[in-house]
Amino acid sequence: MQVDWDKTINDILAEKMSCQACGTLGETMVVGYTRNPDAAQFASRCKDCIDKTDCDARKLVVVCDDCARQYRVNGEHMDEAGMMGLLLEECRTNLEESIDYLSTYWKEEGEVEYEDMQKSLLEVDPDLFREEDAWRRRLEEEYMQIHRWFRDRGIPVPNPGWRSQYVEDVIGLGYTTLLGD
Ligand SMILES: [Zn+2]
Ligand SMILES: [Zn+2]
Repeated sequence: MQVDWDKTINDILAEKMSCQACGTLGETMVVGYTRNPDAAQFASRCKDCIDKTDCDARKLVVVCDDCARQYRVNGEHMDEAGMMGLLLEECRTNLEESIDYLSTYWKEEGEVEYEDMQKSLLEVDPDLFREEDAWRRRLEEEYMQIHRWFRDRGIPVPNPGWRSQYVEDVIGLGYTTLLGD
């Protein structure tokens, strides 16, 4: 059974938490990580995975007790505020990785010519750049959604200084961001 991430967000907005795997509702859920390929069917980050039968990436999932056992989830019981804090952290980590990749990690890929390492990814491989940039845009939209959740409830956003640092880093690289001023 496939559970849609947008629906999960809507359930959260309705002050209920639902298991991403089976849809069970509850006050708390197990929030954590699994590498189980079967969890690719419902893990939010695997939405775009081409081959879901064979994804051993570390996946953040929100599941009920039974599903936590079934998918061997390494996590803990959280209420929605705890979960949103973890989602925010995860989103920030992914954004940092995306920025690191755009600025320098791509140069270490085998097929990049030594002479090209002084250039930007946009110059060397525009298609790959656009793909990575679209992914970063999706993450930023997700960030805004999570941010709004905290704002709507008057709950302080954890580590709010992260955002301005990120914005400066992105602008320093010559790129744009939805999180900017
Ligand atoms: Zn479940
Ligand atoms: Zn995946």
